[in-house]
Amino acid sequence: MGEVLSFDESGEIKEKRHCCEQMTERINYKCSQHPNVFDCPDNLMYYSPRFNEYGIIIHDGGSSYITIDYCCWCGVKLPESKRDEWFDRLQELGFGNPTEQDIPKEFLSCEWYEKT
Ligand SMILES: [Zn+2]
Ligand SMILES: [Zn+2]
Repeated sequence: MGEVLSFDESGEIKEKRHCCEQMTERINYKCSQHPNVFDCPDNLMYYSPRFNEYGIIIHDGGSSYITIDYCCWCGVKLPESKRDEWFDRLQELGFGNPTEQDIPKEFLSCEWYEKT
């Protein structure tokens, strides 16, 4: 279990295959009544493409989730979060407060670590 995090990641989230059927289903779950995943009480899992991390959504009215290290269903070890690297990299680029600043587009998705 990690710390409680809060981020607005309302950008588009591409469908992606995860460790197992259950996880994939949960993360790609879309509710017609709640376009924002954090507003829907039926949503349990969250995947952050920019950090490559998984979390359990906390329904407190914000966009919070608790990061998890293992899949709740198949028990597989999930990938290492790239959160620290994300902040380090942006710091190097001169973004000291990236959650408040206009950061390069690739940092809003998995692009920044997937392209070589
Ligand atoms: Zn809903
Ligand atoms: Zn799984």
